[in-house]
Amino acid sequence: MFDFLTRIWVDTSGTIFEVALQPALYAAGLMMWADRAQEWLDFALLGVVQVVLVYAVCRPLEALHPVEPVSDHAAIRTDVLYTLLARLGLLPLIAFVLLSSAERMLNGLLADTGFVPPTLETLFPALRDMPVVALLLYVVILDFGEYWRHRFQHMFGWWYALHSVHHAQRQMTFWTDDRNHLLDDAIAALWFGAVALLIGVPPAQFVLIVMLRQLAESLSHANVRLSFGSLGERLLVSPRFHRIHHGELSAGEHGRNYAVLLPVWDWLFGTADFDRKSYPRTGDPDAPESLATGGWLRQQVDGLKQFGRALRGR
Ligand SMILES: [Zn+2]
Ligand SMILES: [Zn+2]
Repeated sequence: MFDFLTRIWVDTSGTIFEVALQPALYAAGLMMWADRAQEWLDFALLGVVQVVLVYAVCRPLEALHPVEPVSDHAAIRTDVLYTLLARLGLLPLIAFVLLSSAERMLNGLLADTGFVPPTLETLFPALRDMPVVALLLYVVILDFGEYWRHRFQHMFGWWYALHSVHHAQRQMTFWTDDRNHLLDDAIAALWFGAVALLIGVPPAQFVLIVMLRQLAESLSHANVRLSFGSLGERLLVSPRFHRIHHGELSAGEHGRNYAVLLPVWDWLFGTADFDRKSYPRTGDPDAPESLATGGWLRQQVDGLKQFGRALRGR
């Protein structure tokens, strides 16, 4: 099944590259960028699949049983722009190219010294014969890393200055997932990539994990009155669970429900709120109005200013 999907993927991407991208690069005299362009095409295609999948799952749910009526369409349009920029945009491409060159350089250096970094599979060779267990283990470890990144985002003033862009949204929908400051996105990508490299997640599994995680994250932001029941709420982050994290009382250092995928971390570290009737108003009352209702550029600029002030301790 996985091989079949991979083959369809390679064929589609290869055809688009040959029919559209390659002639365009040739005409523009940019053939030396062909490899990079192919990488970007794969990235953007993956983004299209993600957005379509997320829309197909979340939009009907929001229409069926919303938490609140939509009163600010402009604020949602800004989040749509965030999503398109993050999933198809130029910035992730730059980050991706930089990261993959850094990885290649690092691998080259390591190869010269003859040092092979340990991975989960080299430490526990039995995992090679249990791909599903290995995949689950990668998901759990990566999610543990994400829980702590999110807690630090609320703990350190300079980091929250960036993260408050995500919290300022009062009209939360499934589009809100990608509403982040670019600098915050860059840190998040480095963090996630570093943990994945450290435990040695194979590239194909990495892509699968990122896809599933983003689907779950988009759903957890959806404007839908949906809880997974008393057991389910403890197994997987639901729209109800994450809405409490976005509640007005949960902004800044008063956060609760930090988990991205598995609520077990909040349970273990004493930050969980499992009140299943609670669907609070979302937003950050301390954030400037421009972070809530300003356009994309305004939010990026004001987020950066806020970050600068926090660094200088003002
Ligand atoms: Zn947060
Ligand atoms: Zn969120």
